Amino acid sequence: MERKVYADNAATTAMSRAAIEAMLPYLDGIYGNPSSLYSVGQQAKEALEGARADIAACLGARPDEIYFTSCGSESDNQAIRSAARLGAAKGKKHIISTAFEHHAVLHTLDRLKREEGFEVTLLDVHKNGVVEAEEVKAAIRPDTCLVTVMAANNEIGTVQPIAEIGAVCRAAGVVFHTDAVQAVGHIPVNVAEQNVDMLSLSAHKFHGPKGVGALYCRRGLRLLPLIDGGAQERGRRAGTENVAGICAMAAALKEACANMQKNTAKLVALRDEIIEGLSRIPHSVLNGDRQRRLPGTVNMCFEGVEGEGLLLYLDDMGVCASSGSACTSGSLDPSHVLLAIGLPHEVAHGSLRVSLCEYNTREDAEHIIKCVPQVVEKLRAMSPVWKEMERGERPHVI
Ligand code: PLP
Repeated sequence: MERKVYADNAATTAMSRAAIEAMLPYLDGIYGNPSSLYSVGQQAKEALEGARADIAACLGARPDEIYFTSCGSESDNQAIRSAARLGAAKGKKHIISTAFEHHAVLHTLDRLKREEGFEVTLLDVHKNGVVEAEEVKAAIRPDTCLVTVMAANNEIGTVQPIAEIGAVCRAAGVVFHTDAVQAVGHIPVNVAEQNVDMLSLSAHKFHGPKGVGALYCRRGLRLLPLIDGGAQERGRRAGTENVAGICAMAAALKEACANMQKNTAKLVALRDEIIEGLSRIPHSVLNGDRQRRLPGTVNMCFEGVEGEGLLLYLDDMGVCASSGSACTSGSLDPSHVLLAIGLPHEVAHGSLRVSLCEYNTREDAEHIIKCVPQVVEKLRAMSPVWKEMERGERPHVI
């Protein structure tokens, strides 16, 4: 039997046992609506508030600062639109972000620009995929109402200096939102210590279910609803709560935070082994800073290959990985993240993201290190561009 290696945990993760078990009672038995006054409703309400307290504790927040949403994208949309509109009411219509945010952020900013006249500054993320706090500070203007910078990038895994950026924003009196969808449950996040005003997270990135997320909004900061309707979530997010999903999200996050140190040690070792193994492939490059990265994420480009071909052959060999983000693979445009770190189009096309979780083993890493060079060699043998490079008719870029 061919080995099966799931190495696309930045796209989504398998649910943990703890998360599945936390969910079951609310699917089968305690199915009441948490807004109902009878006991099966109130039991659901109690579970919801327990989950809120657990999630708040994992983030260094207070329970009343956590709002449940349907996903990371919704959290990003609500945070950004709310801060933008409250800013506009005070005559402030400038927003600062980075060129390599997730589309949930970039497309929201685009719409605010197009339809509501906001001005958006997208900061450069440099070759190493990191934006520095000093650059944020230099970009802040008297009319800046929001800074939104992701905590960790979903494609290349680079980790941003959130606490420093938060401090700069706090000093300037500008709201700071971070899309921490790839960070929460993977690296330490503490909203109080890191000067964060708003933060987005999504359960399916840390072994919780898909279709459930949360938004942290610091007490005292106004939050406008994105969805109008009932009075759920203290009037900030209408809609009957996904009680089972929320309980599973809390269980998954508690487990991820409790095991973070142990998981990090394991993942860093596997990640570094993969980086070392794949860097032996000639004309390859690691994308993003070597040190300032998530414990489980590797992103590399191999000259003369197409990412799609790489993924299909790897799938044949039992390896699930990604090229570009899950949402953009399937499109032929090179990833905006790889272009933002300055890779030329033809190199950006040959990218591979391997994202591990604590369920991966050393044998998984070895299988990846064995398969990728074979596939790269096969694809290069078929590539006219690579042949031109080999004959010296076209220069190598990496
Ligand atoms: N932000 C980042 C950095 C992500 O990686 C993702 C998912 O890939 C999202 C936002 C969107 O999260 P969701 O799939 O829960 O909408």
